[in-house]
Amino acid sequence: MTTTAPVTAGHTNEDEELMLAAVRQLVEEKVAPRAAAIDESGEFPWDVKELFAQNDLLGVPIPAEYGGLGGTFLTYVKVVEEIAKACASSSLIVAVQELGMLPIMIAGSEAQKQRFLPKIASGEHLAAYALTEVSSGSDALGSMKTRAVRDGDRYVLNGSKIWITNGSVADVVCVFAVTDPAAGSRGVSAFVLEKGMPGFSVGKKEKKMGIRGSPTVELTFDGCEVPLENRIGEEGEGFKIAMKVLDKSRPGIAAQALGIAAGALEYATNYAKERVAFGKPIGQHQGVGFMLADMKTEVEAARLLLYEAARKCDAGAPDVTQWAAMAKLKCGDVAMSVTTDAVQVLGGFGYSTEYPVERMMRDAKITQIYEGTQQIQRLVIARTLVGKAKAP
Ligand SMILES: Cc1cc2nc3c(=O)[nH]c(=O)nc-3n(C[C@H](O)[C@H](O)[C@H](O)COP(=O)(O)OP(=O)(O)OC[C@H]3O[C@@H](n4cnc5c(N)ncnc54)[C@H](O)[C@@H]3O)c2cc1C
Repeated sequence: MTTTAPVTAGHTNEDEELMLAAVRQLVEEKVAPRAAAIDESGEFPWDVKELFAQNDLLGVPIPAEYGGLGGTFLTYVKVVEEIAKACASSSLIVAVQELGMLPIMIAGSEAQKQRFLPKIASGEHLAAYALTEVSSGSDALGSMKTRAVRDGDRYVLNGSKIWITNGSVADVVCVFAVTDPAAGSRGVSAFVLEKGMPGFSVGKKEKKMGIRGSPTVELTFDGCEVPLENRIGEEGEGFKIAMKVLDKSRPGIAAQALGIAAGALEYATNYAKERVAFGKPIGQHQGVGFMLADMKTEVEAARLLLYEAARKCDAGAPDVTQWAAMAKLKCGDVAMSVTTDAVQVLGGFGYSTEYPVERMMRDAKITQIYEGTQQIQRLVIARTLVGKAKAP
């Protein structure tokens, strides 16, 4: 850290505590004062990205041998949570850097890891992840249309992706494309595309309800030639890679959701101590006090679930898919309910852009949608309990 104690790898509780204290200070001094302006402008906050890069926050879970901090996954989710307490858009810089590098870390060759991960860890390169298409969101792999056709020592990609976070600012994008339309889930492959490759371009930027400082764009591939050495894993392994990525990326989004909820709870609690109605602070009216009690209970319950899911990621536990989905489901729902209640606690002022809780409520909504909607999390959890229906 440039402003406080040096960041360490987060291998021990003490290391982690030192690091989180430093992150808290950085967020309080440099990120929180920027949050409203980032939302207002809708521009990617390059200054915040630089700040995170200088303070080694863009490669927390990347192993030290590839230039990262080699921190635990638990430390990583706590970092995302701390940033999201103040600014959800900024927390997404860290979370999507992780999402974009995961296919390489999980399934990349040694040469690919050496080539891509150090620049991602240092922040020299931003990463993105491109799975979703116009006609394939929840059913991402079943309805995928983007095609990759092998031609000697390269693949030629045609098609497009939508809703790609950081697609316009990323230097490397992990893209999923169909290599064998007849092979079902074994017909999808993963590739690393690099900025400037001919035929690879950025299209429309979405105007959104929340996380406005996070650019969400369309990407198009028009005869885009991708060298063989940029394919991640074997041909046909894309589906397997995408599923493994979700197990590790969903807790990152759960951490964003938890941070938003915790930030809103803190703001509403302080407000309820100060604002007086009918002769006493509103928090001492049972209607408001009970609301705050429920918000606090939900935030702490969500936090326990998330941290346990993160520990399972670190341990490579066999039930990590179930826990990652449960953490995302719980934290997303808590973010939505707690931020909605925070607006209620502030009354009319909660509805004003002069106060942060309306932004937090708008930002919370996306955590129930991306990385799989809440319905899809329930589907995943139910399948781990009772199995998947067999095709007739
Ligand atoms: C701001 C933003 C950023 C994003 N960033 C990325 C990114 O970086 N990379 C990327 O690849 N994608 C990204 N996405 C895409 C996101 O993951 C998808 O929007 C999401 O998975 C839902 O897909 P969909 O929008 O097509 O909704 P649909 O799949 O059309 O779903 C519509 C509704 O139907 C429900 N539904 C669908 N199937 C079922 C079912 N089987 N059972 C019950 N209900 C069901 C859904 O829950 C939802 O309520 C982003 C999206 C947004 C909005």
